[in-house]
Amino acid sequence: MNSTAPASTFETIRIGSRKAACDGGGGALGHPRVFLSLAAVAEVVCPYCSRTYVYDAALALSADGHEH
Ligand SMILES: [Zn+2]
Repeated sequence: MNSTAPASTFETIRIGSRKAACDGGGGALGHPRVFLSLAAVAEVVCPYCSRTYVYDAALALSADGHEH
């Protein structure tokens, strides 16, 4: 017997931050918001919805989120 996983539910999301906030996208697929640290790893999988968050340095460079 072969059980095929529904690969379409496993999204990969590229972010320009070392901290991902995931709430499952809200709606029926939503879950309580969790913060996933990308400080020490290149990618992290949300334990709730199995989305994969990938740190993308290019996005970090284009984001102008620094204020002093
Ligand atoms: Zn999630």
